[in-house]
Formats: sequence, C-alpha cells, structure tokens
Amino acid sequence: MKPRILIIYTGGTIGMIENPITRALQPFDFNHLIDNVPKVSKLDYDIDHRQFEPPIDSSNMRPEHWAEIAVIIEREYDRYDGFVVLHGTDTMAYTASALSFMLENLHKPVIITGSQLPIGEVRTDGEENLITALQVAAAIDSRGEPMVQEVAILFENHLWRGNRSTKMSADNFDAFKSNNYPPLADIGLGIEFDTDALYRSPGHRPLKVRHVMDTAVMVLEVTPGLPEYTLQHLLHTPGIKGIVLKTFGAGNAPTDKWFLKALNDAVARGIVIVNVTQCVNGGVDDTRYETGNGLATAGVVSGRDITVEAAITKLMYLFGMNLEPNVVANYMRHNLCGEISD
Ligand code: ASP
Repeated sequence: MKPRILIIYTGGTIGMIENPITRALQPFDFNHLIDNVPKVSKLDYDIDHRQFEPPIDSSNMRPEHWAEIAVIIEREYDRYDGFVVLHGTDTMAYTASALSFMLENLHKPVIITGSQLPIGEVRTDGEENLITALQVAAAIDSRGEPMVQEVAILFENHLWRGNRSTKMSADNFDAFKSNNYPPLADIGLGIEFDTDALYRSPGHRPLKVRHVMDTAVMVLEVTPGLPEYTLQHLLHTPGIKGIVLKTFGAGNAPTDKWFLKALNDAVARGIVIVNVTQCVNGGVDDTRYETGNGLATAGVVSGRDITVEAAITKLMYLFGMNLEPNVVANYMRHNLCGEISD
C-alpha cells in the first residue's frame, strides 16, 4: 500500500509569487506549488490536497483558521496516513501549539512546514522542506505504526515538537527551534528519528477534536519601570480571562508591593496568570529567588519551561472548554501533550 498523505495548503511564503507590478509577494494557488516541485511526483505516495480559499499570510491566522485545519484533519483522519500543513512561518509555532491541544488522542503525523523563500525561486528552501515533510508524514516504525504521532514542525535540518517550537530567525533557513526540547529528528543524508523524544499519547482512544478557542487571553511583558497605571489598565482589560506574564530570568519580577498586589487582586477576580520566562532557553523556577517567590505567593501559576506560543494557545483551549479558572490554573501546571517537562 502506498502511503496516503493529505497536504493542507494554508498560504505563506512557500506558495507565494511576486506581483509583476508591485513586486510584493502575494499568495498564489496550490497548482503553482506542484508545478514548481515536480519531484513530488517521484515519491511513490498517494497525495491529495485541500487549500484555504484564499491562501493567507500566516500573520492573518486566527483561531477560526486553526479550527478549519482541525476540521479537515478530523474529517479525513481515517482516509490518510499523515497530514502535511503548508503554512507561513510567522505564526507557525502558534498554529502548531494550538493544533496539538485541539487534536486530542492524535495517533497520526501532522507535519507543518513552510519556507523562507518562495518555492518558485531558484534558491528556495521550500522544495526540500516540502519533500522531507512528506517523507516524515509517511514514515512508519518497526511495528508498522506511524513514526510521528503528534503535531511537529519540519524546517531545514530538523523536526521539532510543534508545541515546543519558536520562530528564531526572520532571515535564516534554519528558522525554528525548540529551545527546551531535543529535535524529534535530524535531517541529513537520512532522517534520524530520536524515538525517545517522540510523543505517544496514552491509550488508544479515538481522535477527539475541540474546535472552540477562547481569545480572551493576552501576553503581558514585564519590563523595568513598568508603570502601575499601565499594569492596572492591562489587568482590568474588559473580559480578560487568562494572561501569560513574561518575566525575567527564572521567572522573576519586581517585588514592589503595588505590583504584587495588582497581580494578586487580578487572580482574586478569577484571572489566570501564568509565569513564563522571557529567556529563549530554560524555564521558570519561582522558588529560586525572592523575586519569583512573590509571584507564586500572589497566585501566579508557574508555566515552567512552556513557550509563550504554547502557553497562550493552551489558555485559549482550556477557556474554550468553559472551565472554571481554578481548573484552568491546575491544567496549566500539568503537561497535556508534551508541551512542558514533567
Ligand atoms: N509572512 C509570511 C507568513 O508567515 C512569512 C513566511 O511564510 O515565512 O505567512
């Protein structure tokens, strides 16, 4: 049996061409993509595609688009061995994180890829990324099971866990990294999977897709000298339910009484505040310094080594289920699908 792969083309640079008049890059349709990658037909796979109408720049991605991707996967889950999602790089890590939560009990590969240069360009990275993503989506282990059973990002020389990934460069081909988790595979002459790093969802429950995301969440970055009125203003944003608080170092923030009281009052009003470090690497240890301890005492939840992308989409997903703030806070402390270290 040939591997059956469904490509879902959402847009992004990978499928872009230059507007001959304005010279700006704009999305083109999927046939352009296949025309430019004749090598795809050399893979002995059955490949179908679905595409967003119109394809979008990923900066325009919204939770409704994540739901659209999730619905396609849900509808086609039994017909395909794996899914390749072509997506712009700008918000790819958010989409990968969101899908990892929305696709519960996933046992098939959902490989997201894109490119830094349009696929029509001579030096494009899109061709290699697409071919490798298809191969990863078709890979099986020694028992004939899908090798990858999670949402992952394939970019340049690595396969990364989706909900651990961050876009690291606007210029380099090697644009993604998961700073707190090893690559799921190294791409060189061959594709070397790290089987210990691959996620396996417990049990064999059927896929359950949750489409509703609640967007009453935001990211608040602590900076030296953050004025009290700014903080109060943000914490009193009408309807806000969840906040990712980006703190210094190992989860530290000012110890000023007004600062901690403002956060404590917000938590008392039912807002879930999650402490995530501003550092690219490492995580929150709010027991290490007094400056982190104050946040824990104020009721701020430690996000440990979660990424901002995963933290914000996890809040959207949990509030999307209409859970009470204390239940959301509790889930934020625990690993759901490989997004934080145990
Ligand atoms: N702005 C583009 C996007 O994210 C960039 C890219 O595709 O890499 O859709």
